[in-house]
Amino acid sequence: MEREHLIKPLLNQRYATVQYGKGVFLYDEHGKAYLDASSGAVTASIGHGVQEIIDAMIEQANKVSFVYRSQFTNEPAERLAKKLSDLAAGNDYWTFFVNSGSEATETAMKIAIQHWQEKGRHGKIKVLSRRMSYHGITLGALSMSGHVGRRRRFIPLLEDFPVVAPPYCYRCPFHMTYPECGIACADDLETAVKRIGAEHIAGFIAEPIVGAAGGAVVPPEGYYQKIKEICERNEILFIADEVMTGIARTGAMFGMEHWGVEPDLIALGKGMSAGYTPIAAAMVKDHVMEPILQGSKLVMAGHTFSANPQSAAVSLAVLDYIEKHDLAKAAEDKGAYLLSRLKELSDRCGMIGDVRGKGLLLAVEFVSDRAGKLPFPSANGVTSRIINKAFDKGLLVYPASGGVDGEGDAVILAPPLVITLDEIDLLVNTFEQTVHEVMLEVMG
Ligand code: PMP
Repeated sequence: MEREHLIKPLLNQRYATVQYGKGVFLYDEHGKAYLDASSGAVTASIGHGVQEIIDAMIEQANKVSFVYRSQFTNEPAERLAKKLSDLAAGNDYWTFFVNSGSEATETAMKIAIQHWQEKGRHGKIKVLSRRMSYHGITLGALSMSGHVGRRRRFIPLLEDFPVVAPPYCYRCPFHMTYPECGIACADDLETAVKRIGAEHIAGFIAEPIVGAAGGAVVPPEGYYQKIKEICERNEILFIADEVMTGIARTGAMFGMEHWGVEPDLIALGKGMSAGYTPIAAAMVKDHVMEPILQGSKLVMAGHTFSANPQSAAVSLAVLDYIEKHDLAKAAEDKGAYLLSRLKELSDRCGMIGDVRGKGLLLAVEFVSDRAGKLPFPSANGVTSRIINKAFDKGLLVYPASGGVDGEGDAVILAPPLVITLDEIDLLVNTFEQTVHEVMLEVMG
């Protein structure tokens, strides 16, 4: 065996080597096909190997791939910023481009803090978040993340921002039921603000639908309207982390559209380029930029690759493709079909506790006892078992935690939005076999 050099996520695991991708399938070095039921990490939303995107990539590469943003602006980046504003509620967003979702949330956090600094409100520096959340892996983004497993090693370096209860009706943190609860989880933001003091809080960040930290957790009706009202009343900027939910994934261009709420800032990533090249964004409403434009006239953020024309051209081509094929509508329709098929499946599989989500951002949570909603002991490694067994069968699914503090098991199913009904049937059949086999292993 030759020694290895590439650090891969799980160092004790042998990885298949991908050779190419086409549509919803990836193929490894042995020619084995994998149905990409998670779009990688909820990213490859238009599927693999789309010729229009490859053409746009080559066309831009023939002009110029990189310029440094302090020396030049470039047409693709200018057009992309305008396009995103045209797509978003209110149409009055500026955009700062970065290269990953973590950079996007961290940049949004810094711009929110800077907004208050420019107004002379120097104490407003905390960005509160929910306990069940994931906003990225860099230290600022991780400080806002309530993902227990990903925080653990770095706790002494992190801020304690995830203090608000999640809107997780399946296992309500307050042991209440909607609507009698009066949306107590939204009131929990108000409680945190009172305890910490609005004069110390710059913003509140939330994923419209919780992704990796909970598995497609959709809040109850009225939740975000209440959150926005609490934020406005307390002079707290509302940041929507749309890294996973953005760009048609949930059946709308932005997840927050489902609740008619206009965020002050939006973080985007993943689906923005559908994985064809790294690009992400922090979108900032006019009123948030205003004091910066009047004040220091400088945004203290950015990376060498920010707003490079190559990635911007790819993202423009991806957005065109999504609009041309009406993939937001496709996500809604195909998502409804996949959700109904998964609900049928849950009737046949005792270990499926909950099936949930919106559009093509869906998840299945596993329990050892359905009536009591009891999670499996973590030593059972149910999520890993599902993922590995599905992989053996040529099906890619994405891990999520489930449970308010990561104590549960769940997987996300989020195939490319171009998936056909036949491909969904193949997905569900393979997933059913997977779940049955794992059920035999862990429940006997
Ligand atoms: N926010 C959310 C909601 C995410 O799902 C992710 C990635 N899973 C991130 C931020 C971080 O994005 P990245 O991995 O591109 O840094």
